[in-house]
Amino acid sequence: MLEITGINAGYGDVQVLYDLSLQVGEGEIVALLGANGAGKTTTLWTISGLLKPTSGQIRFENRDLMSMPAHHLPDLGIAHVPQGRGVFQTLNVLDNLLVGAYSRRAKAGRKEALEMVFGLFPRLHERQKQEARTLSGGEQQMLAIGRALMLRPRLLMLDEPSLGLAPVVVETVFEKIAEIGRTGVAILLVEQNLTQALSIAHRGYVLETGRITIQGSTVELMGNEYVKEAYIGL
Ligand code: ATP
Repeated sequence: MLEITGINAGYGDVQVLYDLSLQVGEGEIVALLGANGAGKTTTLWTISGLLKPTSGQIRFENRDLMSMPAHHLPDLGIAHVPQGRGVFQTLNVLDNLLVGAYSRRAKAGRKEALEMVFGLFPRLHERQKQEARTLSGGEQQMLAIGRALMLRPRLLMLDEPSLGLAPVVVETVFEKIAEIGRTGVAILLVEQNLTQALSIAHRGYVLETGRITIQGSTVELMGNEYVKEAYIGL
């Protein structure tokens, strides 16, 4: 579904991604793992078209994403939840969600999408009139994911959904992500929290200083001695 081949990208003269290749198949949950500054966010920005790579290829369902402006991606069914959530603080929950259904493709199915989001996140339904800034961190993360789901995406890209959340809340958020995956939405999950990410992912890639160093199934990564030592602390 998503096929990235040999991407080189960075900011000005500073190269951040080196010859990066990765794939996400239909309905797959794929984790992109790595420490602070490895280039995970940069990878998502590059896929979203917010950062132009200097070379390489990005294709989604055989279409060349690199020749497309970033604002066309939602109409293809690609949604991106940025790090830090980016919900509209002074809008209430309902309006935040409705803002999410701005693409031509999403506007038509807005009512059904809202029902689906409220079904997945009953808490958002209960709090639909509440201003986003008064929600807890976990609720804001759910709102950010809910807003992306209003696009009825086929590929959902999540940038560190566990960031700043208490462990018990992280668990709830990951259960919801797994549930979204079970509905057939493909997910590219960027995470520093390797154990949590691999608890729901089918496959993963480890990114280190801009290069993919290890890739494999969840079982392979969990059993990899280097991964265990460097990322799981075993
Ligand atoms: P984190 O988990 O801390 O978010 P990350 O793996 O997502 O890290 P990136 O945010 O992609 O990493 O950053 C990769 C490198 O690119 C870092 O060295 C960072 O300083 C640099 N970088 C990120 N954004 C910019 C920018 N706007 N201008 C210049 N350099 C940047």
